[in-house]
Amino acid sequence: MAPSLLLLLLSLPWPVRPGSLQRCWELLQHQLQQSWSRFASPQWALALPVPNPSILTEPGHDTTEDKENSSFLDSSFWMAAPKNRRTIKVNRCRRINSHKLIKIKNNIDICPECGHLKQKHVLCGYCYQKVHQETTKIRQQPGGGEGGPFKAPSVETVV
Ligand code: ZN
Repeated sequence: MAPSLLLLLLSLPWPVRPGSLQRCWELLQHQLQQSWSRFASPQWALALPVPNPSILTEPGHDTTEDKENSSFLDSSFWMAAPKNRRTIKVNRCRRINSHKLIKIKNNIDICPECGHLKQKHVLCGYCYQKVHQETTKIRQQPGGGEGGPFKAPSVETVV
């Protein structure tokens, strides 16, 4: 609907003919017809358009011929799309790669204090939580069971 309306609009002549406006109207007609003819060409293929960053534009090639031949499609940067389909075997081999599997841990040991499983040379998580809760309770007591190096209690606190 919209392209046919646009082509109908382009086929209409410019009602008033002042010099510079007539030239702009002809240039706009030429560029739009050129861009629409690109859609109908057999070389058209699917691709991913990305907005063109200003770094990639080359200001050295600015000539009048380039300006006339450029269209709105030139302002986007076209990325490559995969040309061939990957087979199921290749996909499964990549996903079940031995480098991606979780390695088996052989450094598991039993905590001598509580009997839970823990890694060797690592603090037991269960014992750490237990000590953390006891310390919190001691700090919440009125008067404070501990308060620094000079206020250390002489007797061990039992919770
Ligand atoms: Zn433990």
